[in-house]
Amino acid sequence: MSVVESHQDLTERFLEFFRTYYRDEIGVLAQHYPNEHRSLYIEYDDLYTHDRDIAEDYLEKPDEMRAFAEEALSLFDLPVDIDLSGANVRLTDTRDAMESISLAELEAEHIGDFVAITGQIEKVTKVDPNLETAHWVCQRCTTPTPVDQGRNEVQQPHECVGCERQGPFDLHVGKSDWVDQRKLKLGELPRSERPPAGSTARSTSRATCVTSAARTVLRIAPANRPQCSRR
Ligand SMILES: [Zn+2]
Repeated sequence: MSVVESHQDLTERFLEFFRTYYRDEIGVLAQHYPNEHRSLYIEYDDLYTHDRDIAEDYLEKPDEMRAFAEEALSLFDLPVDIDLSGANVRLTDTRDAMESISLAELEAEHIGDFVAITGQIEKVTKVDPNLETAHWVCQRCTTPTPVDQGRNEVQQPHECVGCERQGPFDLHVGKSDWVDQRKLKLGELPRSERPPAGSTARSTSRATCVTSAARTVLRIAPANRPQCSRR
């Protein structure tokens, strides 16, 4: 099978999944996009029930699979003329369908995977705006150059896309994309609250995170249950 065919196939499988499970939610998203809602949250449980292969692949290759899911979302037939091509798909697990690991079990092999971690929230920071895509304006020719930002230092363009010189550049704050970010510190559950090995008892706090260097976005669900997923 060619790469193109397999890509189309994955997009089609996500489309089929959305038609079966998320027609109403996508309708609501379309009504409120992009001002109030920007993301479609999909339950791991639903994905696994519908298509076990793509559910398992999603845990191993979250960035790749999310791209297919978002492409499918952009192709979804809507009764209204709304373009959802900038909307996010976020995998979540409020039904505890994913196998959960403890902090102590988190290892290098999990880097890049999508994992559910059981722990207790020890600290929550205030909301801080975080630069997601910086909009740089060349001081010499005023051409704007957008640059996706990483986690740490602010990244400038290597060269201006207009005049190909190395700036200098000014950050256009209003045209840059910012995201509100809160940091949560997750600690081990106290021994008395840890479920016995092999039990499926629900934990008091649970976070679903991508353990890659990529930024995560946190969504606090009711009953002290943090949900965190890639944007
Ligand atoms: Zn320039």
